[in-house]
Amino acid sequence: MTAQPPVVACPGCGHKQPWNPANPSRPFCSEQCKNQDFVAWAHEEHAIPGSPDFDDVLSGDIELGLLQQQRDGMQ
Ligand SMILES: [Zn+2]
Repeated sequence: MTAQPPVVACPGCGHKQPWNPANPSRPFCSEQCKNQDFVAWAHEEHAIPGSPDFDDVLSGDIELGLLQQQRDGMQ
C-alpha cells in the first residue's frame, strides 16, 4: 500500500498535480507559474488607484509638522 501524495491545484494556472516536496516552485506547478503569479501580484499592488487617502494623510501630516516647526521657530 502506497501513500498517495495530496493533489494540489497550482495557484497560478489551476493545474492539479500531486504534491511534490521536491518541487522548488510549490505550491505552483512550475517556476513559470510562480513568476507569473508574482508579477500579477506586483502589478495589482502598484495598480491600487492612487490610494489617495494614504497620500493625503501622509502629506497632511508632513505639512502639519512643517507648519508646527515654522511656528516654533518664529516664537
Ligand atoms: Zn501552474
